[in-house]
Amino acid sequence: MLGGQPIIILREGTQRDSGKSAQKKNIAAVKAIADAVRSTLGPKGMDDMLVDTMGDMVITNDGATILKKMDVVHPAAKMIVEVAEALDKECGDGTTTAVILAAQLLEEADKLVDMGVHPTIIGQGYRMAADQALTILKSISVPVDMNDSDVLKAIASTTMTGKSLGGSREHLAELAVNAVRRIVTTSGSVHVADLDNIKIVKKHGGSIAGSALHHGIILDKEPAHPDMPRSLSDARVALLSGALEVKKTTISADIQITSPSQLQKFLDQQDHMLKARADRIIASGAKVVVCQKGIDDRIQHLLADAGILALKSVSEKDMKMIARATGSSIVTVPDDLTERDLGTAGRVYSGKVGTDEMTFITECPEAMAVSILIRGGTDHVLDELERSLRDALGVVKLTIEEGHANTGGGASEIELALRLREFSTSVGGREQLAIEAFSRALEVVPRTIAKNSGMDPMDILVRMRSAHGGTKANVHAGLNAITGGISDMRTERILEPHRLKVREITSATEVATLILRIDDVIASKGAGSSPGGGAGGMGGGMGGMDY
Ligand code: ADP
Ligand code: MG
Repeated sequence: MLGGQPIIILREGTQRDSGKSAQKKNIAAVKAIADAVRSTLGPKGMDDMLVDTMGDMVITNDGATILKKMDVVHPAAKMIVEVAEALDKECGDGTTTAVILAAQLLEEADKLVDMGVHPTIIGQGYRMAADQALTILKSISVPVDMNDSDVLKAIASTTMTGKSLGGSREHLAELAVNAVRRIVTTSGSVHVADLDNIKIVKKHGGSIAGSALHHGIILDKEPAHPDMPRSLSDARVALLSGALEVKKTTISADIQITSPSQLQKFLDQQDHMLKARADRIIASGAKVVVCQKGIDDRIQHLLADAGILALKSVSEKDMKMIARATGSSIVTVPDDLTERDLGTAGRVYSGKVGTDEMTFITECPEAMAVSILIRGGTDHVLDELERSLRDALGVVKLTIEEGHANTGGGASEIELALRLREFSTSVGGREQLAIEAFSRALEVVPRTIAKNSGMDPMDILVRMRSAHGGTKANVHAGLNAITGGISDMRTERILEPHRLKVREITSATEVATLILRIDDVIASKGAGSSPGGGAGGMGGGMGGMDY
């Protein structure tokens, strides 16, 4: 107010929420998001069916997918979705856990706020708790060697529990482990697994069990010419990025042809040029030629006559992958091609997969790029299969790169909760309350897994806590939701990458403290036009929320 005159700095129609009211609404929005994915957590989590505004349907057990498909408009809820997406991108897993943990941290914070604890103090306490949690998490992790296929398979298999894969989970886990181990590069003690070097090819038909790993690259292509060989073994492979065609000049040149003999000479010259290129390729010793651009019919003939299998119009990305798989170098034109540029494939063959012609450049002895062919009955099955496989590849990568695993089935969270409670007493003050709240929030993981498996969450929590204490204390005691028993998660083979657990906790803490600090929400008229805050027709069952 200035001299009794109000100063209006916000556009008319702008809504403003401050203090507790803003906080409560943000927390409610985040809780709604968590509620949409809660039931999918753990091996017995249910599938969600999502139908978008176009009527397209997705059936999935994948928290990340559900969040991606939901049309979330509430700003705080959006922050949660973004965190989940970032986690999915970085780790390929752990999104449901991070989301429900963030929501639980906020719910616990809400209670503290009601008790009069300031959000800043809660944020501080949460950050102290998270730091301490990471230290504990490391101390209870188990080292994993990249050659320990068995443990890596357990980790891949754990991430795929609950996905509708029939009896093929172990098979897919094995494919994932073998694929990632194949493409790891090691310098000193540092391992790097770039998943871009794994090509996933989905093909209708067959059974999941028919999915296979190829040490090489699979292409949606058939040989350029029908007379070309369709199967070769121990073939040298050449990669050409330039066109094998008569150059179309960009500058228009007039060619004066005044007699039929001149025309013939001109055509002969072209033939001669093309033949020279084909000869160059043949002389190099290549039996397989992969060309990024087109191949002139005449060259196709000459190559076919020489028993060479040529593929044309192959994408740049595939070219690079074939180079990594076969060990060949990509050259622009045949003139540059030498024997040293050629790579090797143990087998190259073309044939029908389902209804499509495909070519396999496979059994490459030094393959640093591989393909996984996945088979399944329908598009929905193939898509869910691909998502599961990507999760598995992601966790194997994380484990190999970081080198440790933590036990799943709630074991790590229960241990963290117990130790953080002890830690909180050493801190004292108001932060102690926040650290205790953090510790309670962590129990949402085992509680939800138990609930989703139809067990009594309280009973399971009590039993788990007691397995982690006393004289026979075992930091790895967790719930096997398939059998319903509480036992050592290492022997149950329920393991997760250490790095994933770290990221779940850090991202949930970050987003929760960030949202907690917001006590002023100013929504302009435009932003408020979709007050549902909700699921845009999705199966998440949200909506009915206001800012
Ligand atoms: P997220 O999106 O967070 O990865 P998931 O639905 O994949 O969610 O569930 C992951 C949780 O399920 C982890 O805490 C993991 O330890 C747990 N889990 C996996 N397999 C089992 C099992 N057989 N028994 C109990 N918990 C399991
Ligand atoms: Mg998972």
